[in-house]
Amino acid sequence: MHDIDFTGEAEGLHPQLIAWRRDLHQHPELGFAVHRTAGIVAQTLAGLGYEVRTGVGQTGVVALLHGGRPGPTVMLRADMDALPIQEISDAPYASQVAGAMHACGHDGHVAIGLGTATLLARHAAELPGRVLLVFQPAEEGGGGAAAMVADGVLADPAPDAAFGLHVWNSLPLGRVVAQAGPLMAAADVLKIVIRGKGGHGAQPHEAVDAIAVAGQALSALQTIVSRNVDPQETAVLTIGSIRGGTAFNVIAESVEMLGTIRTFAPTVRETVLTRLRVLLDGVTNGMGARYDLEIESATQAVVNDPVLAEIARNAASQIAGAHAVGWHPPLMASEDFSEFARRVPACFILVGSANPELGLDAPHHNPRFDFDERVLPLSVALLTAAAVRYLTYA
Ligand SMILES: [Zn+2]
Ligand SMILES: [Zn+2]
Repeated sequence: MHDIDFTGEAEGLHPQLIAWRRDLHQHPELGFAVHRTAGIVAQTLAGLGYEVRTGVGQTGVVALLHGGRPGPTVMLRADMDALPIQEISDAPYASQVAGAMHACGHDGHVAIGLGTATLLARHAAELPGRVLLVFQPAEEGGGGAAAMVADGVLADPAPDAAFGLHVWNSLPLGRVVAQAGPLMAAADVLKIVIRGKGGHGAQPHEAVDAIAVAGQALSALQTIVSRNVDPQETAVLTIGSIRGGTAFNVIAESVEMLGTIRTFAPTVRETVLTRLRVLLDGVTNGMGARYDLEIESATQAVVNDPVLAEIARNAASQIAGAHAVGWHPPLMASEDFSEFARRVPACFILVGSANPELGLDAPHHNPRFDFDERVLPLSVALLTAAAVRYLTYA
């Protein structure tokens, strides 16, 4: 299948890819409520001859293509959900839904998934193996990938390998990153409630000031990353919200702190969580307060399989040229593609989508986010080539 011109075929789909992407961009849907999007996906895939299952992980869509020859099963994943952001855009395809926007590029991912499905279906007779397309809801929090796993997406048939792809506006158009090892961080969500004893603002000696305790705790927590984590390792601890107190002359009874921890290595994560408890114990004990701590493991790290990463990089060289394939420091952002990647050998690919000259370089999750749509055919060709290379060489 090496003589197939994936770039040329993907270019031929460019108007269709743009049409899909812009339609989805105008109709963003949040979390698991991606009903319209999933409907379009299911209908399109059925029309291409795929065996389609809907309602997997509430609103996920799974589609299977049988190649003409026996071989392994490769899974390709696209996420479908938008974000609760009010878009700022003059584009004719701007969001028509108040307070919802495709600000992460998942509209592009759906278009890329459908485009890749189109090319693979066209060459099904020559394919050695099967292609499992997975369109998931609720990537932006909510656990869409885990819900699909719980609903059996990795069974019958169990994929032998998985590829995922993200358009990436921190990289210029056409740059491809698909390195072995850690690519995106594990994320934990923290909720700390400091419990003191409320009282009169003029009689602090009869109270335990939860705000004063929270201040000490906040300072102490900042020393975990700077003093307890090996400087050769990586971690972030951010307290993003503090709420407490009701009036100028009332000592606060309690203070709630919300935050997040990002790590790559499980040992580093354990260090951070252990020190977090030790410091909260010490500070609250010393100041006569108590605390409640909730830690929710939101997302695990995305760690790319070395063999699949090499297949993806070779596919990228074939499609975009060797000069376009680069290395990127692991990202502190997180991705629930990890739910697949920790169960199946997998590779997550970043494809640069920014074009500063056209003003298409706002960061992900920004109300002005938009990308250069030439990333769509490029990504279709790349994902198709990676799938075919895997099926051919595995
Ligand atoms: Zn996002
Ligand atoms: Zn995303």
